[in-house]
Amino acid sequence: MSANITCHCGVCGFEINDGKPCLSLLCGCTDCRHALEWCSLQGGAEPSSLPELIYVKSDILSVKGKEFMHAFKLRSTGRSTRIYCEKCFSIIGVDHKSYRDNVFMFFKYHCSTNCDLSIEPSAAIYLNDLQDASQISKLENIPLIFSFSEIETREFREIKRVSNSFNEINRPRYGQTLKSVIHSMSKIEILN
Ligand SMILES: [Zn+2]
Ligand SMILES: [Zn+2]
Repeated sequence: MSANITCHCGVCGFEINDGKPCLSLLCGCTDCRHALEWCSLQGGAEPSSLPELIYVKSDILSVKGKEFMHAFKLRSTGRSTRIYCEKCFSIIGVDHKSYRDNVFMFFKYHCSTNCDLSIEPSAAIYLNDLQDASQISKLENIPLIFSFSEIETREFREIKRVSNSFNEINRPRYGQTLKSVIHSMSKIEILN
């Protein structure tokens, strides 16, 4: 079933073809933290120290309020491109090289959505970057990935939801991908 992902103020968002997320991860990385802190400083939602990332198929049926959307990278070498709303500083979509245009990601609680959010996180990643290490003891029954060492990378890739989401799969698409939406935007801001 289709679903919507919109910013908190509602001026912009996407309708996606499949509102059932394919993956959820908890992420302690510095980039997620910096991106959410930057948005929060401009008036967006408070960042959590271990945000939940929700992945959906990158199949966008319609785009609303594109004139309010901006794309940014933290650094010119950054591998993630994030789309935020210029009015409310929600982050409504994130593309990363490793997603291979199969999926895109959004942060739970940093946008509004009627996607089915009952999915449980499959792993917690980048725990070495976490500032509040007390969070780790609260994590139960999921793989804990601290630094993506060789062993951890293998363990991560063997998670079925991860390989299903990130590996190239030929599937019919009904709309456009987040990458193509980003390409159609006038520019990508580099925050530095
Ligand atoms: Zn907004
Ligand atoms: Zn992250």
